[in-house]
Amino acid sequence: MIEILNKMFEATPDKSMIVLNVKCSGCGSQTIIKITPTSDGFGVMGGILFKRSPDRYLVKCPACHEANLKTDKHKKMGKIHKDSNRLK
Ligand SMILES: [Zn+2]
Repeated sequence: MIEILNKMFEATPDKSMIVLNVKCSGCGSQTIIKITPTSDGFGVMGGILFKRSPDRYLVKCPACHEANLKTDKHKKMGKIHKDSNRLK
């Protein structure tokens, strides 16, 4: 992922921020992502970037990303619930 972002910034050396206007791979809604270089890599605002292949990436909007997090949480909570049942 970092290689892709490095290439983007190499292509536009005069820019300190790159704005991507892309479609979310989850819900298909238009998502505007702002990328800024930071001391330890890159800062990404407005959405989430996933590396798909050496020069391709997927984008998810904050809503889809949050939905993923909630799904993970439910899975974890389900496990805790099972454990507490076992204790009874
Ligand atoms: Zn989405």
